[in-house]
Amino acid sequence: MKYYDKLIFELSKEGRTGYSLGSSPFAASTALPENLLRSEAPALPQVSEIEVVRHYTNLSQMNFGVDTGFYPLGSCTMKYNPKINEEIAGMKGFQALHPLQPACTVQGALEVYYNMEKSLSALTGMAGFTFNPCAGAHGELTGLMIMRQYHLLRGDLKRTKVIVPDSAHGTNPASAAVCGLDVVVVKSNADGLVDVADLKPLLGDDIAGIMMTNPNTLGLFEKEIGEIAGLVHECGGLLYYDGANMNPLIGMVRPGDMGFDIMHLNLHKSFSTPHGGGGPGSGPVGVCEKLVPYLPVPKVVRKEDGTFDVVCNDEKSAGQVSGFLGNFGVILRGYAYILTLGKQNVKLAGKFATLAANYIKESLKDCYKLPIPSICKHEFVFDGLLDDGSRKADDGTVEREGATTLDVAKRLLDFGFHAPTIYFPLLFHQAIMIEPTETESLETLDAFIEVMRKIAAEAAEDPAILKNAPHNAPITRPDETTAARQPVLKFQDEA
Ligand SMILES: *Cc1c(COP(=O)(O)O)cnc(C)c1O
Repeated sequence: MKYYDKLIFELSKEGRTGYSLGSSPFAASTALPENLLRSEAPALPQVSEIEVVRHYTNLSQMNFGVDTGFYPLGSCTMKYNPKINEEIAGMKGFQALHPLQPACTVQGALEVYYNMEKSLSALTGMAGFTFNPCAGAHGELTGLMIMRQYHLLRGDLKRTKVIVPDSAHGTNPASAAVCGLDVVVVKSNADGLVDVADLKPLLGDDIAGIMMTNPNTLGLFEKEIGEIAGLVHECGGLLYYDGANMNPLIGMVRPGDMGFDIMHLNLHKSFSTPHGGGGPGSGPVGVCEKLVPYLPVPKVVRKEDGTFDVVCNDEKSAGQVSGFLGNFGVILRGYAYILTLGKQNVKLAGKFATLAANYIKESLKDCYKLPIPSICKHEFVFDGLLDDGSRKADDGTVEREGATTLDVAKRLLDFGFHAPTIYFPLLFHQAIMIEPTETESLETLDAFIEVMRKIAAEAAEDPAILKNAPHNAPITRPDETTAARQPVLKFQDEA
Protein backbone atom coordinates (compact mmCIF):
# COMPACT_ATOMS: atom_id res chain seq x y z
CA MET A 1 0.00 0.00 0.00
CA LYS A 2 1.43 3.36 -1.00
CA TYR A 3 1.09 6.09 1.58
CA TYR A 4 -1.20 8.04 -0.76
CA ASP A 5 -3.66 5.15 -0.87
CA LYS A 6 -4.81 6.44 2.50
CA LEU A 7 -7.75 8.73 2.90
CA ILE A 8 -6.89 12.25 3.87
CA PHE A 9 -8.48 11.61 7.26
CA GLU A 10 -6.07 8.73 7.80
CA LEU A 11 -3.12 11.03 7.12
CA SER A 12 -4.27 13.35 9.90
CA LYS A 13 -1.91 14.00 12.84
CA GLU A 14 -3.09 15.93 15.87
CA GLY A 15 -1.85 19.52 15.78
CA ARG A 16 -0.52 19.52 12.18
CA THR A 17 -1.63 22.48 10.08
CA GLY A 18 -1.35 23.60 6.49
CA TYR A 19 -2.22 27.20 7.04
CA SER A 20 -2.93 29.29 10.06
CA LEU A 21 -5.03 32.41 10.08
CA GLY A 22 -4.49 35.10 12.67
CA SER A 23 -7.43 36.03 14.84
CA SER A 24 -9.88 38.27 13.04
CA PRO A 25 -10.20 41.87 14.18
CA PHE A 26 -13.86 41.61 13.22
CA ALA A 27 -14.52 38.51 15.30
CA ALA A 28 -16.55 40.35 17.89
CA SER A 29 -18.75 42.22 15.42
CA THR A 30 -19.52 39.09 13.35
CA ALA A 31 -20.17 36.84 16.32
CA LEU A 32 -22.86 34.28 15.54
CA PRO A 33 -25.82 33.78 17.85
CA GLU A 34 -25.08 31.30 20.61
CA ASN A 35 -27.65 28.74 19.41
CA LEU A 36 -25.96 28.50 15.98
CA LEU A 37 -22.46 27.82 17.32
CA ARG A 38 -20.90 24.33 17.37
CA SER A 39 -20.30 22.84 20.77
CA GLU A 40 -17.08 21.21 19.58
CA ALA A 41 -14.65 21.74 16.68
CA PRO A 42 -15.46 19.84 13.43
CA ALA A 43 -13.48 16.63 12.84
CA LEU A 44 -11.36 17.92 9.94
CA PRO A 45 -8.14 16.23 8.87
CA GLN A 46 -5.02 17.88 10.31
CA VAL A 47 -2.43 17.84 7.53
CA SER A 48 0.34 20.03 6.14
CA GLU A 49 0.07 21.85 2.82
CA ILE A 50 2.46 19.49 1.01
CA GLU A 51 0.48 16.48 2.22
CA VAL A 52 -2.71 17.99 0.82
CA VAL A 53 -1.04 18.82 -2.51
CA ARG A 54 0.49 15.33 -2.86
CA HIS A 55 -2.70 13.60 -1.80
CA TYR A 56 -4.89 15.25 -4.41
CA THR A 57 -2.27 15.25 -7.16
CA ASN A 58 -1.76 11.52 -6.66
CA LEU A 59 -5.50 10.89 -6.63
CA SER A 60 -5.88 12.79 -9.90
CA GLN A 61 -3.24 10.54 -11.46
CA MET A 62 -5.10 7.39 -10.49
CA ASN A 63 -7.85 8.42 -12.88
CA PHE A 64 -7.96 7.76 -16.61
CA GLY A 65 -8.96 10.39 -19.14
CA VAL A 66 -8.67 11.32 -22.78
CA ASP A 67 -5.80 13.58 -21.76
CA THR A 68 -3.85 10.63 -20.36
CA GLY A 69 -4.50 7.82 -22.83
CA PHE A 70 -6.52 6.26 -25.67
CA TYR A 71 -10.19 6.05 -24.75
CA PRO A 72 -12.07 3.94 -27.35
CA LEU A 73 -15.42 4.09 -25.54
CA GLY A 74 -18.10 3.40 -28.15
CA SER A 75 -21.43 5.23 -28.16
CA CYS A 76 -20.03 8.08 -26.07
CA THR A 77 -17.61 9.71 -28.55
CA MET A 78 -14.86 10.49 -26.06
CA LYS A 79 -13.09 12.64 -28.63
CA TYR A 80 -10.16 14.91 -28.07
CA ASN A 81 -11.43 18.37 -27.26
CA PRO A 82 -9.18 21.16 -28.48
CA LYS A 83 -7.92 23.24 -25.57
CA ILE A 84 -8.71 26.49 -27.35
CA ASN A 85 -12.40 25.75 -26.83
CA GLU A 86 -11.79 25.57 -23.09
CA GLU A 87 -9.98 28.88 -23.19
CA ILE A 88 -12.77 30.56 -25.09
CA ALA A 89 -15.43 29.17 -22.76
CA GLY A 90 -13.36 30.44 -19.83
CA MET A 91 -13.09 34.02 -21.11
CA LYS A 92 -14.24 36.49 -18.46
CA GLY A 93 -16.82 38.16 -20.69
CA PHE A 94 -18.61 34.85 -21.15
CA GLN A 95 -17.99 33.24 -17.80
CA ALA A 96 -19.29 36.08 -15.65
CA LEU A 97 -22.67 36.35 -17.41
CA HIS A 98 -25.85 35.90 -15.45
CA PRO A 99 -28.95 34.38 -17.09
CA LEU A 100 -31.17 37.12 -15.65
CA GLN A 101 -29.18 39.98 -17.20
CA PRO A 102 -31.25 42.21 -19.52
CA ALA A 103 -30.89 41.19 -23.18
CA CYS A 104 -29.29 44.54 -24.08
CA THR A 105 -26.29 43.69 -21.83
CA VAL A 106 -25.64 40.21 -23.32
CA GLN A 107 -25.88 40.88 -27.05
CA GLY A 108 -22.64 38.97 -27.78
CA ALA A 109 -23.83 35.83 -26.01
CA LEU A 110 -27.21 35.96 -27.73
CA GLU A 111 -25.43 36.33 -31.07
CA VAL A 112 -23.50 33.12 -30.29
CA TYR A 113 -26.84 31.32 -29.73
CA TYR A 114 -28.26 32.77 -32.91
CA ASN A 115 -25.22 31.93 -35.06
CA MET A 116 -24.98 28.47 -33.57
CA GLU A 117 -28.64 27.87 -34.45
CA LYS A 118 -27.86 28.87 -38.05
CA SER A 119 -24.73 26.66 -38.17
CA LEU A 120 -26.46 23.58 -36.81
CA SER A 121 -29.46 24.11 -39.07
CA ALA A 122 -27.12 24.23 -42.07
CA LEU A 123 -25.27 21.08 -40.94
CA THR A 124 -28.42 19.07 -40.26
CA GLY A 125 -31.00 20.36 -42.73
CA MET A 126 -33.34 21.49 -39.95
CA ALA A 127 -35.23 24.82 -39.92
CA GLY A 128 -34.60 25.82 -36.30
CA PHE A 129 -33.04 24.69 -33.02
CA THR A 130 -33.54 25.13 -29.29
CA PHE A 131 -30.51 24.96 -27.01
CA ASN A 132 -32.47 24.64 -23.79
CA PRO A 133 -32.06 20.85 -23.20
CA CYS A 134 -28.94 20.06 -21.17
CA ALA A 135 -28.17 16.52 -22.44
CA GLY A 136 -29.03 14.07 -25.18
CA ALA A 137 -31.71 12.33 -23.13
CA HIS A 138 -33.15 15.73 -22.18
CA GLY A 139 -33.24 16.53 -25.92
CA GLU A 140 -35.09 13.28 -26.63
CA LEU A 141 -37.75 14.18 -24.09
CA THR A 142 -38.00 17.71 -25.54
CA GLY A 143 -38.28 16.34 -29.09
CA LEU A 144 -41.00 13.90 -28.09
CA MET A 145 -42.89 16.70 -26.30
CA ILE A 146 -42.79 18.59 -29.61
CA MET A 147 -44.02 15.48 -31.45
CA ARG A 148 -46.87 15.04 -28.96
CA GLN A 149 -47.80 18.73 -29.10
CA TYR A 150 -47.93 18.61 -32.91
CA HIS A 151 -50.43 15.73 -32.86
CA LEU A 152 -52.44 17.17 -29.94
CA LEU A 153 -52.90 20.60 -31.54
CA ARG A 154 -54.15 18.90 -34.70
CA GLY A 155 -56.71 17.07 -32.58
CA ASP A 156 -55.08 13.76 -33.53
CA LEU A 157 -55.44 12.24 -30.07
CA LYS A 158 -55.03 8.59 -30.96
CA ARG A 159 -51.28 8.81 -31.62
CA THR A 160 -49.81 7.56 -28.34
CA LYS A 161 -47.23 5.04 -29.56
CA VAL A 162 -43.57 5.51 -30.50
CA ILE A 163 -41.61 2.92 -32.46
CA VAL A 164 -38.07 2.26 -31.21
CA PRO A 165 -35.59 -0.23 -32.76
CA ASP A 166 -34.32 -3.08 -30.55
CA SER A 167 -30.79 -1.74 -31.04
CA ALA A 168 -31.70 1.69 -29.60
CA HIS A 169 -29.87 3.40 -26.79
CA GLY A 170 -31.72 2.85 -23.49
CA THR A 171 -32.56 6.53 -23.21
CA ASN A 172 -34.90 6.30 -26.25
CA PRO A 173 -37.59 4.08 -24.69
CA ALA A 174 -37.02 5.79 -21.33
CA SER A 175 -37.67 9.26 -22.81
CA ALA A 176 -40.79 8.00 -24.57
CA ALA A 177 -42.10 6.57 -21.30
CA VAL A 178 -41.37 9.80 -19.41
CA CYS A 179 -43.27 11.67 -22.13
CA GLY A 180 -46.29 9.43 -21.52
CA LEU A 181 -45.97 7.58 -24.84
CA ASP A 182 -46.08 3.79 -25.26
CA VAL A 183 -43.05 2.08 -26.78
CA VAL A 184 -43.36 -0.39 -29.65
CA VAL A 185 -40.16 -2.26 -30.56
CA VAL A 186 -39.12 -2.88 -34.16
CA LYS A 187 -36.60 -5.68 -34.75
CA SER A 188 -33.22 -5.52 -36.45
CA ASN A 189 -32.48 -7.83 -39.38
CA ALA A 190 -29.40 -10.04 -39.77
CA ASP A 191 -27.44 -7.07 -41.14
CA GLY A 192 -28.06 -5.12 -37.92
CA LEU A 193 -30.43 -2.64 -39.61
CA VAL A 194 -34.10 -1.86 -38.93
CA ASP A 195 -36.16 -4.67 -40.47
CA VAL A 196 -38.56 -2.92 -42.88
CA ALA A 197 -40.77 -6.03 -43.12
CA ASP A 198 -41.13 -6.02 -39.32
CA LEU A 199 -41.86 -2.28 -39.33
CA LYS A 200 -44.71 -2.25 -41.86
CA PRO A 201 -47.38 -4.01 -39.76
CA LEU A 202 -46.63 -1.72 -36.79
CA LEU A 203 -47.60 1.42 -38.68
CA GLY A 204 -51.09 2.83 -38.21
CA ASP A 205 -53.14 5.78 -36.99
CA ASP A 206 -52.00 5.26 -33.39
CA ILE A 207 -48.32 5.87 -34.20
CA ALA A 208 -46.94 9.25 -33.10
CA GLY A 209 -43.58 8.55 -34.70
CA ILE A 210 -40.36 6.55 -34.79
CA MET A 211 -37.05 7.21 -33.05
CA MET A 212 -33.95 6.23 -34.99
CA THR A 213 -30.20 6.59 -34.65
CA ASN A 214 -28.23 6.75 -37.88
CA PRO A 215 -25.61 5.39 -37.99
CA ASN A 216 -27.27 3.13 -35.44
CA THR A 217 -25.75 1.88 -32.19
CA LEU A 218 -23.90 -0.84 -34.11
CA GLY A 219 -22.15 1.89 -36.10
CA LEU A 220 -24.08 0.93 -39.26
CA PHE A 221 -25.74 3.31 -41.67
CA GLU A 222 -29.48 2.62 -42.02
CA LYS A 223 -29.55 2.33 -45.79
CA GLU A 224 -33.32 1.97 -45.99
CA ILE A 225 -33.93 5.29 -44.26
CA GLY A 226 -35.54 6.78 -47.39
CA GLU A 227 -38.12 4.02 -47.56
CA ILE A 228 -38.67 4.05 -43.78
CA ALA A 229 -39.25 7.83 -43.80
CA GLY A 230 -41.80 7.42 -46.60
CA LEU A 231 -43.70 4.70 -44.74
CA VAL A 232 -43.78 6.55 -41.40
CA HIS A 233 -44.89 9.84 -42.99
CA GLU A 234 -47.55 8.02 -45.00
CA CYS A 235 -49.13 6.71 -41.80
CA GLY A 236 -49.13 10.22 -40.30
CA GLY A 237 -46.18 9.77 -37.94
CA LEU A 238 -43.04 11.87 -37.48
CA LEU A 239 -39.39 10.80 -37.55
CA TYR A 240 -37.14 11.53 -34.60
CA TYR A 241 -33.36 11.41 -35.11
CA ASP A 242 -31.15 10.54 -32.15
CA GLY A 243 -28.08 12.52 -33.18
CA ALA A 244 -25.65 11.04 -30.66
CA ASN A 245 -23.90 9.29 -33.56
CA MET A 246 -23.68 12.38 -35.76
CA ASN A 247 -19.87 12.52 -35.53
CA PRO A 248 -19.17 10.56 -38.76
CA LEU A 249 -21.84 12.39 -40.75
CA ILE A 250 -21.09 16.03 -39.98
CA GLY A 251 -20.76 17.92 -43.23
CA MET A 252 -21.48 14.77 -45.26
CA VAL A 253 -25.14 13.77 -44.78
CA ARG A 254 -28.01 15.72 -43.23
CA PRO A 255 -30.78 14.16 -41.11
CA GLY A 256 -33.23 16.63 -42.69
CA ASP A 257 -32.41 15.20 -46.13
CA MET A 258 -32.92 11.65 -44.81
CA GLY A 259 -36.51 12.60 -43.94
CA PHE A 260 -36.24 13.33 -40.21
CA ASP A 261 -38.57 15.95 -38.70
CA ILE A 262 -37.09 16.31 -35.19
CA MET A 263 -33.62 15.58 -33.86
CA HIS A 264 -31.17 16.22 -31.09
CA LEU A 265 -27.42 16.60 -31.16
CA ASN A 266 -25.11 15.85 -28.25
CA LEU A 267 -22.81 18.86 -28.42
CA HIS A 268 -20.69 17.18 -25.73
CA LYS A 269 -20.11 14.19 -28.03
CA SER A 270 -19.91 15.44 -31.62
CA PHE A 271 -18.98 19.09 -31.12
CA SER A 272 -16.30 19.13 -28.40
CA THR A 273 -16.59 19.52 -24.57
CA PRO A 274 -15.00 17.02 -22.24
CA HIS A 275 -17.73 14.92 -20.67
CA GLY A 276 -18.34 11.84 -18.59
CA GLY A 277 -19.19 11.49 -14.95
CA GLY A 278 -22.42 13.35 -15.39
CA GLY A 279 -21.80 16.50 -17.32
CA PRO A 280 -21.79 19.19 -18.45
CA GLY A 281 -23.81 18.59 -21.58
CA SER A 282 -26.02 20.17 -24.18
CA GLY A 283 -28.67 18.43 -26.26
CA PRO A 284 -30.02 21.01 -28.73
CA VAL A 285 -33.18 19.96 -30.56
CA GLY A 286 -33.75 20.80 -34.20
CA VAL A 287 -37.04 20.65 -36.10
CA CYS A 288 -38.29 20.96 -39.65
CA GLU A 289 -40.15 24.09 -40.81
CA LYS A 290 -43.68 23.04 -39.79
CA LEU A 291 -42.59 22.23 -36.22
CA VAL A 292 -40.72 25.49 -35.47
CA PRO A 293 -43.71 27.02 -33.59
CA TYR A 294 -43.65 24.07 -31.18
CA LEU A 295 -40.06 24.64 -30.02
CA PRO A 296 -39.74 25.27 -26.27
CA VAL A 297 -39.34 28.74 -24.79
CA PRO A 298 -37.44 30.92 -24.02
CA LYS A 299 -35.73 31.43 -27.38
CA VAL A 300 -33.32 33.88 -28.94
CA VAL A 301 -34.53 35.96 -31.89
CA ARG A 302 -32.93 38.53 -34.12
CA LYS A 303 -34.94 41.73 -34.43
CA GLU A 304 -35.29 43.84 -37.53
CA ASP A 305 -32.68 46.34 -36.33
CA GLY A 306 -30.14 43.49 -36.08
CA THR A 307 -30.10 43.29 -32.29
CA PHE A 308 -30.99 40.14 -30.36
CA ASP A 309 -33.70 39.46 -27.83
CA VAL A 310 -35.06 36.61 -25.72
CA VAL A 311 -38.75 35.85 -26.27
CA CYS A 312 -41.21 33.63 -24.46
CA ASN A 313 -44.04 33.42 -27.00
CA ASP A 314 -45.45 30.05 -26.03
CA GLU A 315 -48.78 30.00 -27.86
CA LYS A 316 -48.00 26.67 -29.54
CA SER A 317 -44.75 25.83 -27.75
CA ALA A 318 -44.36 22.38 -26.24
CA GLY A 319 -43.43 24.20 -23.03
CA GLN A 320 -40.37 25.00 -21.01
CA VAL A 321 -37.71 22.36 -20.41
CA SER A 322 -34.95 24.34 -18.68
CA GLY A 323 -34.65 27.20 -16.24
CA PHE A 324 -32.98 29.40 -18.83
CA LEU A 325 -31.49 29.14 -22.31
CA GLY A 326 -29.34 26.07 -21.67
CA ASN A 327 -25.70 25.22 -20.90
CA PHE A 328 -24.06 28.24 -22.47
CA GLY A 329 -20.44 27.11 -21.89
CA VAL A 330 -21.02 23.91 -23.86
CA ILE A 331 -22.74 25.75 -26.71
CA LEU A 332 -19.78 28.11 -26.84
CA ARG A 333 -17.31 25.24 -27.12
CA GLY A 334 -19.36 23.75 -29.95
CA TYR A 335 -19.41 27.08 -31.74
CA ALA A 336 -15.64 27.45 -31.37
CA TYR A 337 -15.22 23.89 -32.66
CA ILE A 338 -17.26 24.57 -35.80
CA LEU A 339 -15.56 27.90 -36.51
CA THR A 340 -12.01 26.59 -36.02
CA LEU A 341 -12.60 23.65 -38.36
CA GLY A 342 -14.56 25.60 -40.96
CA LYS A 343 -16.78 24.35 -43.75
CA GLN A 344 -14.07 22.31 -45.49
CA ASN A 345 -12.43 20.63 -42.50
CA VAL A 346 -15.55 19.86 -40.49
CA LYS A 347 -16.19 16.89 -42.83
CA LEU A 348 -12.73 15.44 -42.23
CA ALA A 349 -13.57 14.48 -38.65
CA GLY A 350 -16.16 11.96 -39.83
CA LYS A 351 -13.95 10.56 -42.58
CA PHE A 352 -11.00 10.00 -40.23
CA ALA A 353 -13.22 8.53 -37.47
CA THR A 354 -14.74 6.12 -40.01
CA LEU A 355 -11.35 5.15 -41.41
CA ALA A 356 -9.93 4.56 -37.91
CA ALA A 357 -12.88 2.36 -36.87
CA ASN A 358 -12.70 0.22 -40.02
CA TYR A 359 -8.92 -0.09 -39.66
CA ILE A 360 -9.21 -1.50 -36.13
CA LYS A 361 -12.14 -3.74 -37.10
CA GLU A 362 -10.30 -5.30 -40.04
CA SER A 363 -7.08 -5.69 -38.02
CA LEU A 364 -8.74 -7.62 -35.22
CA LYS A 365 -11.49 -9.67 -36.85
CA ASP A 366 -9.31 -12.81 -36.90
CA CYS A 367 -9.20 -12.86 -33.08
CA TYR A 368 -12.54 -11.32 -32.06
CA LYS A 369 -16.00 -12.38 -33.25
CA LEU A 370 -17.36 -9.86 -35.73
CA PRO A 371 -21.12 -10.52 -35.96
CA ILE A 372 -21.74 -7.94 -38.68
CA PRO A 373 -18.90 -7.71 -41.16
CA SER A 374 -20.02 -4.77 -43.30
CA ILE A 375 -18.24 -1.43 -43.47
CA CYS A 376 -19.00 0.54 -40.32
CA LYS A 377 -19.07 4.25 -39.63
CA HIS A 378 -17.29 5.67 -36.56
CA GLU A 379 -17.71 2.58 -34.34
CA PHE A 380 -18.34 -1.15 -34.50
CA VAL A 381 -19.17 -4.09 -32.26
CA PHE A 382 -17.35 -7.36 -31.58
CA ASP A 383 -19.12 -10.21 -29.82
CA GLY A 384 -16.31 -11.43 -27.56
CA LEU A 385 -13.20 -13.48 -28.30
CA LEU A 386 -12.99 -16.03 -31.10
CA ASP A 387 -11.09 -18.35 -28.75
CA ASP A 388 -11.89 -17.46 -25.15
CA GLY A 389 -9.66 -20.24 -23.81
CA SER A 390 -12.51 -22.33 -22.38
CA ARG A 391 -11.95 -26.07 -22.48
CA LYS A 392 -14.48 -28.85 -22.11
CA ALA A 393 -13.85 -32.42 -21.02
CA ASP A 394 -15.07 -35.30 -23.20
CA ASP A 395 -18.25 -35.62 -21.11
CA GLY A 396 -19.09 -31.99 -21.85
CA THR A 397 -18.31 -30.59 -18.39
CA VAL A 398 -16.37 -27.35 -18.17
CA GLU A 399 -12.70 -27.99 -17.54
CA ARG A 400 -11.57 -24.41 -17.85
CA GLU A 401 -13.67 -21.21 -17.81
CA GLY A 402 -13.12 -18.96 -20.79
CA ALA A 403 -12.35 -15.24 -20.67
CA THR A 404 -15.31 -12.91 -21.07
CA THR A 405 -15.66 -9.45 -22.52
CA LEU A 406 -15.36 -8.02 -18.99
CA ASP A 407 -12.02 -9.82 -18.62
CA VAL A 408 -10.72 -8.35 -21.89
CA ALA A 409 -11.79 -4.88 -20.76
CA LYS A 410 -10.06 -5.26 -17.39
CA ARG A 411 -6.86 -6.57 -19.01
CA LEU A 412 -6.67 -3.54 -21.33
CA LEU A 413 -6.17 -1.32 -18.26
CA ASP A 414 -2.87 -3.08 -17.58
CA PHE A 415 -1.58 -1.79 -20.90
CA GLY A 416 -2.64 1.80 -20.36
CA PHE A 417 -5.78 1.79 -22.51
CA HIS A 418 -9.27 2.66 -21.35
CA ALA A 419 -11.73 -0.16 -21.97
CA PRO A 420 -14.20 0.12 -24.87
CA THR A 421 -17.92 0.12 -24.08
CA ILE A 422 -18.91 -3.41 -23.05
CA TYR A 423 -22.20 -5.33 -22.96
CA PHE A 424 -23.89 -2.65 -25.10
CA PRO A 425 -25.74 -2.75 -27.41
CA LEU A 426 -27.81 -5.59 -25.97
CA LEU A 427 -28.08 -7.44 -29.28
CA PHE A 428 -24.91 -9.44 -28.56
CA HIS A 429 -24.12 -11.17 -25.27
CA GLN A 430 -20.40 -10.38 -25.28
CA ALA A 431 -20.58 -6.97 -26.98
CA ILE A 432 -17.36 -4.93 -27.18
CA MET A 433 -18.07 -1.59 -28.80
CA ILE A 434 -15.04 0.28 -30.10
CA GLU A 435 -14.96 3.91 -31.22
CA PRO A 436 -11.50 5.33 -31.88
CA THR A 437 -12.59 8.89 -32.93
CA GLU A 438 -10.81 11.02 -35.50
CA THR A 439 -7.80 12.46 -33.75
CA GLU A 440 -5.86 9.29 -32.85
CA SER A 441 -2.62 8.73 -34.76
CA LEU A 442 -1.86 5.57 -36.73
CA GLU A 443 0.77 4.74 -34.06
CA THR A 444 -1.86 4.85 -31.30
CA LEU A 445 -4.27 2.69 -33.31
CA ASP A 446 -1.48 0.18 -34.04
CA ALA A 447 -0.46 0.06 -30.38
CA PHE A 448 -4.08 -0.66 -29.40
CA ILE A 449 -4.40 -3.36 -32.06
CA GLU A 450 -1.19 -5.01 -30.89
CA VAL A 451 -2.41 -5.11 -27.28
CA MET A 452 -5.84 -6.45 -28.29
CA ARG A 453 -4.10 -9.24 -30.22
CA LYS A 454 -1.82 -9.99 -27.28
CA ILE A 455 -4.86 -10.22 -24.97
CA ALA A 456 -6.60 -12.61 -27.38
CA ALA A 457 -3.48 -14.81 -27.40
CA GLU A 458 -3.32 -14.77 -23.60
CA ALA A 459 -6.99 -15.76 -23.39
CA ALA A 460 -6.46 -18.75 -25.65
CA GLU A 461 -3.46 -19.89 -23.68
CA ASP A 462 -4.33 -19.06 -20.08
CA PRO A 463 -7.60 -17.19 -19.46
CA ALA A 464 -6.67 -16.81 -15.76
CA ILE A 465 -4.34 -13.92 -16.72
CA LEU A 466 -7.40 -12.04 -17.93
CA LYS A 467 -9.70 -13.19 -15.17
CA ASN A 468 -7.41 -11.73 -12.51
CA ALA A 469 -6.77 -8.48 -14.37
CA PRO A 470 -6.04 -5.67 -13.90
CA HIS A 471 -2.70 -6.53 -12.34
CA ASN A 472 -1.15 -3.08 -12.13
CA ALA A 473 -4.02 -0.62 -11.78
CA PRO A 474 -4.50 1.24 -8.47
CA ILE A 475 -7.43 -1.04 -7.61
CA THR A 476 -8.40 -4.42 -9.04
CA ARG A 477 -12.07 -5.39 -9.37
CA PRO A 478 -14.50 -3.46 -7.25
CA ASP A 479 -18.00 -4.73 -6.69
CA GLU A 480 -19.43 -2.43 -9.35
CA THR A 481 -23.08 -2.93 -8.44
CA THR A 482 -22.59 -2.18 -4.75
CA ALA A 483 -20.26 0.71 -5.60
CA ALA A 484 -23.03 2.23 -7.74
CA ARG A 485 -26.02 1.39 -5.55
CA GLN A 486 -24.60 1.85 -2.05
CA PRO A 487 -21.63 4.16 -2.48
CA VAL A 488 -19.69 5.10 0.64
CA LEU A 489 -19.02 8.76 0.02
CA LYS A 490 -18.19 9.87 3.54
CA PHE A 491 -15.31 9.07 5.87
CA GLN A 492 -16.54 6.45 8.31
CA ASP A 493 -14.81 7.34 11.53
CA GLU A 494 -14.38 4.10 13.43
CA ALA A 495 -12.99 5.81 16.53
C1 LIG B 1 -25.21 9.14 -25.35
C2 LIG B 1 -26.37 8.72 -26.10
C3 LIG B 1 -27.66 9.18 -25.72
C4 LIG B 1 -27.93 9.99 -24.47
O1 LIG B 1 -27.24 11.20 -24.43
P1 LIG B 1 -26.82 11.89 -23.04
O2 LIG B 1 -26.22 13.18 -23.45
O3 LIG B 1 -25.86 10.97 -22.36
O4 LIG B 1 -28.08 12.09 -22.24
C5 LIG B 1 -28.71 8.80 -26.52
N1 LIG B 1 -28.56 8.02 -27.60
C6 LIG B 1 -27.35 7.55 -27.97
C7 LIG B 1 -27.24 6.68 -29.20
C8 LIG B 1 -26.22 7.88 -27.23
O5 LIG B 1 -25.01 7.42 -27.59
